[in-house]
Amino acid sequence: MKFATKAIHAGVHPDPATGAIMTPIYQTSTYVQDGVGNHKGYEYSRTQNPTRHALEKNIAAIENGKYGACFGSGLAAIDCVLKMLNPGDEVISTNDLYGGSYRIFKTIFEKYGIIFHFVNMQDVAAVATLVNEKTKMIWVETPTNPMMNIVDIEAMAKISKAAGAMLCVDNTFATPYLQNPLDLGADMVMHSVTKYLGGHSDVVMGALVCSDENIANEMYRIQNSSGAVTAPMDSFLVLRGIKTLHLRVQRHCENGEKVARFLAAHPKIDKVYWPGFETHPNHEVAKRQMRGFGGMISFNLKGNQLEDALNIVKKVEIFALAESLGGVESLIGHPATMTHASIPKDVREQSGVVDSLIRLSVGIEDADDLIADLTQALA
Ligand SMILES: *Cc1c(COP(=O)(O)O)cnc(C)c1O
Repeated sequence: MKFATKAIHAGVHPDPATGAIMTPIYQTSTYVQDGVGNHKGYEYSRTQNPTRHALEKNIAAIENGKYGACFGSGLAAIDCVLKMLNPGDEVISTNDLYGGSYRIFKTIFEKYGIIFHFVNMQDVAAVATLVNEKTKMIWVETPTNPMMNIVDIEAMAKISKAAGAMLCVDNTFATPYLQNPLDLGADMVMHSVTKYLGGHSDVVMGALVCSDENIANEMYRIQNSSGAVTAPMDSFLVLRGIKTLHLRVQRHCENGEKVARFLAAHPKIDKVYWPGFETHPNHEVAKRQMRGFGGMISFNLKGNQLEDALNIVKKVEIFALAESLGGVESLIGHPATMTHASIPKDVREQSGVVDSLIRLSVGIEDADDLIADLTQALA
């Protein structure tokens, strides 16, 4: 089945009790048993819930995976993956990681004896030199946030397979419509469903997808044991959101390209980071592993003045100043003071998150209106 058909039909069936075409919101904590141990596959909603179940199957299908699990947030999904590790294990990750991922690595899991290495993952050889017998996980984010660097997933899969380590890819920015890491050799895909999968800025949720049965058993064991599951109502909203994922992402890509080209031609702008540009250093890798370049764009200003950047994010009228991304509405953000404030200044500046850097999540409004808004804000 092709993507659009799976997005609409995978995992969902008419309700057996009534024929309702939409999966009901099974707002229940428990399920009545006919006799001890005689139940219909559902015992308690931390472990299994039919609305969540439909969503988990749907997300697994659109990622070309076998097993899906949904969590109360993207970070709860990351928490689940990291709990597969043991003290002394080592993880290799990117040096321009999402701020919240960096924080859970450094301030939660380091305490339990897990060792994290951060490296520029565009440099495949540099990743390989960090591998040793304790390397148990490679954690990739691509495109990266907010610098829009592209990591070669197939190259990372080769390294992780040789090391006997697990390759996890945070696929939040690309979405399953543009990139499927499992097909490129990854063992686990993670999503902040909060972003494009939900797509309407009304839910916080995370998801994991894998195809290996042993990894899946661990994933479900930790999901049930730690209990960071998502709610039936939120599962319903995301099932509805995913039905239009392909249409939304097509428009995000079209608008993203128009806005990126407008910014690149603007006299006040220094650099524009968008993987669709042929001049982007990883454009060839992006073309190979993605089916489009998305609507996430970062840029900085000539002169690199903090006040200039803060002025622009205040002056926009259609773009809303907010954290997060991936909704139908356009958002604007200032990474240095918002999403990346928890990363030390010298660390963030090394990766390009300078004071005048601005990040856009280009929505699916009319592109002319978005460009007019940026024109007046930059004037
Ligand atoms: C938002 C985000 C997360 C965290 O997800 P939450 O749903 O906010 O917990 C992780 N990775 C990336 C790339 C994100 O954008």
